[in-house]
Amino acid sequence: MKVKIVEVGPRDGLQNEQKVLTLEQKKRFIELLIQAGHEFIEVGAFVREDKIPQMANTGELLMSLQKNLSGKVNLSVLVPNAKGFMLAQKANAKSISVFTAASETFNKNNINASIEESLENFKAFLPEAKKNKLFIRGYVSTCFGCPYEGKVSEKAVLNVTQKLLKLGVNEISIGDTIGVANPTQVKQLTKKLLKLVGHKKLALHFHDTRGTALANILSGLDAGVRIFDTSSGGLGGCPYAPGASGNVATEDVLYMLHEMGVKTKIDLNKASRAALYIQEVLGYKLPGKYLQSIKEIP
Ligand code: MG
Repeated sequence: MKVKIVEVGPRDGLQNEQKVLTLEQKKRFIELLIQAGHEFIEVGAFVREDKIPQMANTGELLMSLQKNLSGKVNLSVLVPNAKGFMLAQKANAKSISVFTAASETFNKNNINASIEESLENFKAFLPEAKKNKLFIRGYVSTCFGCPYEGKVSEKAVLNVTQKLLKLGVNEISIGDTIGVANPTQVKQLTKKLLKLVGHKKLALHFHDTRGTALANILSGLDAGVRIFDTSSGGLGGCPYAPGASGNVATEDVLYMLHEMGVKTKIDLNKASRAALYIQEVLGYKLPGKYLQSIKEIP
């Protein structure tokens, strides 16, 4: 069995870290991830630099990384609006992602738009992205629970997923933004999503805030999901619970999958080197359990 891993550390992870990295540090980190065998990496976001300084220089970073890139590696950038899309095109992006949520209150608080408004907003640039043959990923946040509304209905998740499909996205990432999902819930929702989306387009994005991320990944895997988002070292933390874990750590997922005989194209030792590098740059212990378990990398 083979699984596709989407490394979100350089964007979803670093965006939520306090320290702002230099262009060179981000570049080095992503090069180490590529050396580890990662083929799908989200490298940055075209958002306002005064609001999210961690994502500054995304265009420059992307162009410099793409100079000597093998054809197998897909670097994607988050694009919140038409202006972001223009910048992504300027930087010659081949792959973009857009962001909405299954919870109305979360979307309002996060991007100041209703779900419907966010989808309308995508219509301003997704047709051109399709025309230019860009790969488009759609994120749906808060699919298993919302920090403001609590429970989120399966219907709400399926509804927004269907609308994103209609807009022509190539992959849908279903997120457990606050890390509240449980394996039974994952199995139930995933079965319905697989019918709607198919296993080639469906990704799961888990957070380990309450220690359930690996169990949820296993549940998704059993249900037939073959794409998972992970973050190097568990970068990013949880913006809704300061000090708690957020994104599931790449190395933890790789260790579990490889030991189970599930293949990825990523070398765990090399992935750990990338995580150790970024840990040193940030200057504190990252939450990844595998990373904490190793004394030295062979
Ligand atoms: Mg995340």
